[in-house]
Amino acid sequence: VRNLNKVFRSRGGLFKPAREVRALDDVSFTLAPGETVGIVGESGSGKSTLGRCVVRLERPDSGSLSLAGTDLSALRGDALRRERHRVQMIFQDPYASLNPRHRVGYAIAQGPMANGVPRAQAMRQAEELLELVGLGAVAVDRFPHEFSGGQRQRIGIARALALNPELIVADEAVSALDVSIQAQVLELLEELKQKLSLSLLFITHDLRVAAQICDYIIVMQHGRIVEQGTAKEVFLSPGEAYTRQLLDAIP
Ligand code: ATP
Ligand code: MG
Repeated sequence: VRNLNKVFRSRGGLFKPAREVRALDDVSFTLAPGETVGIVGESGSGKSTLGRCVVRLERPDSGSLSLAGTDLSALRGDALRRERHRVQMIFQDPYASLNPRHRVGYAIAQGPMANGVPRAQAMRQAEELLELVGLGAVAVDRFPHEFSGGQRQRIGIARALALNPELIVADEAVSALDVSIQAQVLELLEELKQKLSLSLLFITHDLRVAAQICDYIIVMQHGRIVEQGTAKEVFLSPGEAYTRQLLDAIP
């Protein structure tokens, strides 16, 4: 990721002044294959904007993003559609992106089918993925509301994996779960990473969770990187007062 910039402008109205937020201010970093990099920072520091730019849900104003030699930020149209499966995102609440009327198997098979995988094959793969994330193949015929928060996060993970990504961006993927379920989902991510040789960009406001799973941690404040280092360095001996505040905020 090189020199990403993103400014949000709101036009303002009768009672509302125009506003300009620099959500990303010249953000650059590298993520090695198989590595987990954490993005931490207080609310509004630009973490989600960064994640959304990386998966191309958001277009940065400037900067570039390349994945194993392909300049993803330069791609448009068909070329982008062909490559975008390589980076997938998992969200804080996968429920929000799961259609309540679609069975879980279909929800997972949808992406591959849109990319031309025959239905029977995509559904078979969905069963395998549900097995892989620990829900069991029987989950294909059930509906999202029949699952708990932690289970739905597993569905979200299976859905991302269905597209064979090389990089997964997890945005507060465990933040809504209680601590013991958090640990299970983190363990699953770790296990899948090893098995499928994935890279992970792990976004969280919780420095403790980041320290558990990340190799390297990047600390953001007001859209800028203010500190970075190995998880151990940042967690045990933070150089910035801001990072120490994040640590102090942990109950
Ligand atoms: P949180 O921890 O609360 O999720 P975050 O670090 O993910 O916060 P972002 O969502 O990236 O923060 O937001 C960064 C800044 O950009 C904030 O000031 C936010 O208000 C602003 N912002 C984000 N998305 C938009 C948008 N679509 N339109 C206008 N402003 C936006
Ligand atoms: Mg966010």
